[in-house]
Amino acid sequence: MAVITKKVKGTEDILPRDSYKWQFVEDVMKKEAECFGFKEIRTPVFEHTMLFNRGVGETTDVVQKEMYTFDTKGGESITLRPEGTAGAARAYLEHALHNDGLPIKAYYLLTCYRYEKAQAGRQREFHQFGMETYGAADPRADAEMICAANSVFDRLGVENIKLELNSIGCKNCRKNYTAALKAYFEGYKDQLCDTCLSRLDRNPMRILDCKSEICSGIAKNAPTVLEYICEDCSGHFDMVKSYLDAAGVEYTVNPTIVRGLDYYTRTVFEFVTDSIGAQGTVCGGGRYDGLIEELGGQPTPSLGFAMGLERLLMVMDAQGIEIPKPNTCDLYIAPLGEEAAKKAFVLVKSLRESSLIAETDIIGRALKPQMKYANKIGAKYSMVVGGDDLAANKAVVKKMDTHEQFEVPLDDGFIDKFLEIYISQSHKSVADAFAGEQ
Ligand code: ATP
Ligand code: MG
Repeated sequence: MAVITKKVKGTEDILPRDSYKWQFVEDVMKKEAECFGFKEIRTPVFEHTMLFNRGVGETTDVVQKEMYTFDTKGGESITLRPEGTAGAARAYLEHALHNDGLPIKAYYLLTCYRYEKAQAGRQREFHQFGMETYGAADPRADAEMICAANSVFDRLGVENIKLELNSIGCKNCRKNYTAALKAYFEGYKDQLCDTCLSRLDRNPMRILDCKSEICSGIAKNAPTVLEYICEDCSGHFDMVKSYLDAAGVEYTVNPTIVRGLDYYTRTVFEFVTDSIGAQGTVCGGGRYDGLIEELGGQPTPSLGFAMGLERLLMVMDAQGIEIPKPNTCDLYIAPLGEEAAKKAFVLVKSLRESSLIAETDIIGRALKPQMKYANKIGAKYSMVVGGDDLAANKAVVKKMDTHEQFEVPLDDGFIDKFLEIYISQSHKSVADAFAGEQ
C-alpha cells in the first residue's frame, strides 16, 4: 500500500499551489526564444537507444551509466530521452528541416530521464529548456545562442550567475589534444576509476568530467584544450568573444570546461552559480558541428544549450526573486438551494465566457463553509444567490477585502453590471495607491 502513494526516487510532483512558478518561468523562456526567432519543437519522450548511443556518445557518463533503457514487448531497445539535443537532431534529419530554410532555430521545454544519484538539484526526472540552431557555422551564431541564454536569466532577474566559456576545438585539433591527454593520464593508470581506464584509449577527454574525487583531482593538472586548438578554431573563438563584448555580455574563459556530452566542438559554455550548493551549473551548451553528420546527415554546423528548470527555480528561490502570483477567482457565487444553484451555474458560465475566473459550489456545502472556501481561494468578490432576492431577480456582490456591497440584476444585465463594478473598483484601487503615495 505504501508504495503506491510514494513517488519514485528522483522524481518530483509539481503541485497546483506551485505550478504558477513553473508556468511563469516557462512563459519567459518561450517569449525570449521567440524574440530570437526560435520556434518550438516537441519530440517524443522515448527514442531508439541507438540514437543516444550515437548522438550523446558511447563513452559519456550519460550513456554508460545514466540511461533508462528497456526492451519493448516487440523486442526493440528504447531509451527515455536523457537530453533534448539528440531527439531534435533526429527530427531535423527525419523531416529534412533544412528545406524550410537555414538556419533552423528551434527551442524545447521537456522532461529528461537520467539514472543518477538523487540529491538537491539532481533528479532522475527533470526539466530542461533548450535552444538549437542548425546550419550556422558563423561565430555570430555562437554569440547569439549565448545571448539568448543570458537574456533568460536577465528577464527573470537572476543575479550572480557567471558565464564560463571555452573552446574545445574541432576534430582536427582535437587529435593533438587527445594524444597529450592520453600521455598525461597514462601516468596515473593505477589510480583512475575503471570507467576512466576504459576511456583512456577510446576518449580520454571524458576523464575530465569524471565525478570521482580521485579522477577529478588528477584531471586538475591535465593539459588544457585551449593550448592545442588550431588557428581556425582560435580565430572562431576570438570572434565569439568579440561579439559577446559588443553585446555587453560578461564572461570568463575557463579552459577546464569540456562538457559531458560527446558531440561538442569549438565553443562550449556553462552558466554557473554558487547560490544553490554543489549542483551549480544551471545551463550548459555549445557547438556540435559533427552531430548531424554522425547521425547520417550532411555536414551541418549546429549549436545549442540546455537549461535545467529545477536548478533555475532553486536559484530564483535562493535569491528571493518574487514570481507574480496567479490571478485568483474574480467572483465566487454561493447559492442557497436548488433553484439558486442552477442560476449560479448559469451565471458562472457567462462570467467565464467573459474570461473572468468564476466559481460556484459543486459539492453541496452550506453558506458558511462556502464563504470560508471563497476566502481560501482568494476570491475578489462573492455573491450569495437565493431567497427573496432571487425571486426579485437580484443579488448583492460583496468585495471581499473592503466588504463594500453592490446590487446587481440577475437577468441579462448581470455581466455588464458586474464588469462595471469590477473595472471601477480596480481603477479605484490604482487611484487609492497613487493617493497613498502622495
Ligand atoms: P552535471 O555536471 O550537473 O551532471 P550535465 O553536464 O550532466 O550536468 P547537461 O547534460 O549539460 O548537464 O544538462 C544541462 C542542464 O540540465 C544542466 O546544467 C542542469 O541544469 C540540468 N541537469 C542535468 N542533469 C540534471 C539532473 N539529473 N537533475 C536536474 N537537472 C539536471
Ligand atoms: Mg550529469
